[in-house]
Amino acid sequence: MKEPTTKAEQQREQLLRQIEQLARRALFGTLSETYRTCGTPGCRCHREGPKHGPHLYVSYRGDKGKTTGYYVPKAVQAEVRKSIEAWSQLQENLWRLAQLNKERLIPTSLRKNRTFATGSN
Ligand SMILES: [Zn+2]
Repeated sequence: MKEPTTKAEQQREQLLRQIEQLARRALFGTLSETYRTCGTPGCRCHREGPKHGPHLYVSYRGDKGKTTGYYVPKAVQAEVRKSIEAWSQLQENLWRLAQLNKERLIPTSLRKNRTFATGSN
């Protein structure tokens, strides 16, 4: 295996390693905390409260764009929070990687300095 030489290549290798680590644990979704009533008759949650919680809930857009979600058991709440965070770090790193890929494919010296107009002609 060839050692990456330039600074950009080293950055790229580092990003790729980070992306792999993040991808291994990333979870997709939005965290929310909910408070619920329980099944015990006469419990305070059915009267003046407070209700039980917070319960951690992950919602996300599933197949066919339908929003779905799941409850997070207490034992894995910290891990799920980190995994959701890993997803956004992953997006950030992929964006940076794409920039480096572009530099690699089309060096600045070869690039024409122009911006494209958008919209109709
Ligand atoms: Zn209750």
